[in-house]
Amino acid sequence: MKNLVLLGPPGAGKGTIAKRLAAEHGYLHLSTGDILRDEVTRGTELGRKAKAYMDAGELVPDELILAMVKEHVAGKDGILFDGFPRTLAQARGLEEIAPIQLVLFLELDRDTVVRRLSGRRVCPQCGALYNLVTQPPKEDERCDHCGAGLIQRDDDRPEVIARRFEVYMKDSAPLVDYYQGKGILVRLDAARPPEEVYAAALRAIRDDRP
Ligand code: AMP
Repeated sequence: MKNLVLLGPPGAGKGTIAKRLAAEHGYLHLSTGDILRDEVTRGTELGRKAKAYMDAGELVPDELILAMVKEHVAGKDGILFDGFPRTLAQARGLEEIAPIQLVLFLELDRDTVVRRLSGRRVCPQCGALYNLVTQPPKEDERCDHCGAGLIQRDDDRPEVIARRFEVYMKDSAPLVDYYQGKGILVRLDAARPPEEVYAAALRAIRDDRP
């Protein structure tokens, strides 16, 4: 099975697509953000080191991320990398860890990013993702699947959102050229409705074409 990277600014829909591809097509969803949030919640050494960076919307240092990814990937394939790599150093490090066959780049402009992240809510119990504007839960701020009260991520506050977009433009946007140069990048318009973006992602994976 192929290993894929989901690239794009925060709020572009990487997590939503990844969760669906994992559930419906058996990919292993590896979200470095989710792993880090779990480390923070459990109060591990890595979580303690990562927390301040995450709260400020800054990137956690490459060497911590690469060691963490290596541990989670060992001996597996069919991995869907979500939110990783985020720097050129991470992309180069990933080459030593797992071969990447396809990169799906979810393109989204800054204004839409800010609007989406402000409305984003997550279920603290089962991890389901919602958006109060574009994908609201059926019942007011409650998870459709497990009924838990939805929460807003700490880093989805306006001042942190702005910083996260800046960091994305500076550190992560250069990865678009990097993977394009390798001939494995497919661009998807992430401003379209989630259903359409998912269908386009699936077509790209099936066609196996950049
Ligand atoms: P995410 O859930 O992907 O938006 O990630 C949330 C936060 O975790 C980011 O703002 C970073 O502080 C940190 N993080 C997640 N993935 C990475 C990564 N690949 N490299 C550095 N920091 C990361």
